Amino acid sequence: MINLWNSLIDLIVPRVCAICGNRLAGPEQAICAACNRHLPRTDHVLTPLDNLLCRLYWKQIPIGKAAAWFYYSAGSPAGRAIYALKYHHQADIGRLLGEMMAREFRAEGFFEGIELLVPVPLTRGRQRQRGYNQSLLIAEGVSHITGIPIADKALRRVHFDGSQTQNDIEARRQNVKNAFQLRHPEHVKGRHLLLIDDVVTTGATTLSCAKELAKAGEVTVSVLSLGFVRP
Ligand SMILES: [Zn+2]
Repeated sequence: MINLWNSLIDLIVPRVCAICGNRLAGPEQAICAACNRHLPRTDHVLTPLDNLLCRLYWKQIPIGKAAAWFYYSAGSPAGRAIYALKYHHQADIGRLLGEMMAREFRAEGFFEGIELLVPVPLTRGRQRQRGYNQSLLIAEGVSHITGIPIADKALRRVHFDGSQTQNDIEARRQNVKNAFQLRHPEHVKGRHLLLIDDVVTTGATTLSCAKELAKAGEVTVSVLSLGFVRP
């Protein structure tokens, strides 16, 4: 019955690949099998304790493990999926991509030891404007596959993040330096946390979150993102 219903919906509003725009086949979700095959995977997950993403944090803060799913650049095929998620109100894509990434990473044991998922928060204004927080959607997808709970009230974003695409790296660093506040240290104290973002560029945003989370005491912070901008 549910399958029939889905087929009917598909007739009325065809589900299409977020990258190439072709219609999705029955079992495909968010992106088609061909685009999935061609996703430029970073393979961070194979060396989660030492890779280019980990190294963004090394001199700044102790980091557990870190991995991004694919290399990201604006306008690239993989970039189109992120763009759809952030600017085309395609909230479902966030959960579905989170699930796909989580299935692959679970197979490599990436989630072993992780106790809580912490999505990078948006300011209230930005969240209202967009209608959702894309990092929370990704976290929901990951949680659905791994069963790891989400602590989305632990951090709050206090500074408006501006239009990050237009700022240079230094301005961006300053912008996010004090952008987050730890609200509920008791939610995260003593736990192994997995910070989740959609794209990591300089690492400044996740670094700022990690420093704030560390104030709760005895935490290990790891990082997960869909996209990673090749340095
Ligand atoms: Zn496709």
